Amino acid sequence: MSSKDHQTTRRVLDMLHGRARKLAKGDSLTPPIVNASKYALPGAPDHPFVYGRYDNPGWQAVETAIGALENAPVISFPSGMAAITAALMALAGPGSRILMPSDGYYTVRVLIEDFLRQHGIEVVYVPTREMDAHDLSGFDLIWLETPSNPGLDVCDIAGICTRAHRTGAKVCVDNTSATPLLQDPLALGADMVVASDTKALAGHSDVLFGHVAAKDDALIERVRQWRKLSGATPGPAESYLAYRGLMTLELRLERMCANAGALAGLFHGHAAVEAVRYPGLPDDPSHAIASKQMTRPGFIVGATFASEATAERFIDDCPAIFHATSFGGIQTSAERRGRWGDDVPAGYVRLSAGCEPTDALLEAVKHTLDAL
Ligand SMILES: *Cc1c(COP(=O)(O)O)cnc(C)c1O
Repeated sequence: MSSKDHQTTRRVLDMLHGRARKLAKGDSLTPPIVNASKYALPGAPDHPFVYGRYDNPGWQAVETAIGALENAPVISFPSGMAAITAALMALAGPGSRILMPSDGYYTVRVLIEDFLRQHGIEVVYVPTREMDAHDLSGFDLIWLETPSNPGLDVCDIAGICTRAHRTGAKVCVDNTSATPLLQDPLALGADMVVASDTKALAGHSDVLFGHVAAKDDALIERVRQWRKLSGATPGPAESYLAYRGLMTLELRLERMCANAGALAGLFHGHAAVEAVRYPGLPDDPSHAIASKQMTRPGFIVGATFASEATAERFIDDCPAIFHATSFGGIQTSAERRGRWGDDVPAGYVRLSAGCEPTDALLEAVKHTLDAL
């Protein structure tokens, strides 16, 4: 086990036992779902629990648990986009210049074009594979999403952070596809991490959730202030679901990454697949940097089929693949990203490996591939 892996597993231990270590006799191991808008507040309003929009015991429970993995303070949000909006509000303002990945999560670009540009924020888009060579001078914020979604290109977080800080820019990483267990952007020098915990972190396809993490107190307080003022607050029940899903994240990722590696190998050697993208494959363009900055190459695999029709048939015919958008769930799922207009070949399928037994999953996928 590498020292990087050892540090990660120690954080998992702290995440799992963090709450238990602080319990009094008779307290429940699981955090309670506290449905509250009002809290008892006599005298000065000098307590975290003054009003439901300010704080909730369920937010604190999930934030402490995610914080054990991030090794940093965390603010929770009702979705990944709410977390991303908070990060942009904390890091950018009128006159800010942002460098954004052109191949990152599509909705972030729409948010910027439809709402932020009109407030005097300037944005330049660059593909993730060109980030490492791009001149960062003149930018206030560098936004990274690596591995990129859906193309699975990877850029060098540590290298970009060093260059960005030299010219006074902040770096924010959307770490959704890696989760804090596969990649630690804050340790690599990033100022802020955002994530959609709707995906692998909560992991059961039953809740929308998100978080922001940052080591700098002033930055994290600005994000907290944004949540309090904007009212982008997670529900108590959703906070519990995210907490509950998080408890098995490490266990699920083990199986998901193993399944992704096995599927990538199967795709790689199969005549029905024209091209495979998986950072774990030694000949993948992302392999070198991914091996350096990730503990595992992830659970998402890209496979290109000869045509749109063949790709659709593959997804629909395989009894071990759920045809849906999004990723990071228990069940293996896939979709053709071209249907959303992503800049990928028409036959490109993004597959998110789930937690099925590896042999059964491989057998079902191979059977479908053979019959295409
Ligand atoms: C899904 C996703 C988001 C948005 O998260 P929601 O929880 O759907 O709001 C942001 N970034 C990435 C990389 C995502 O995959």
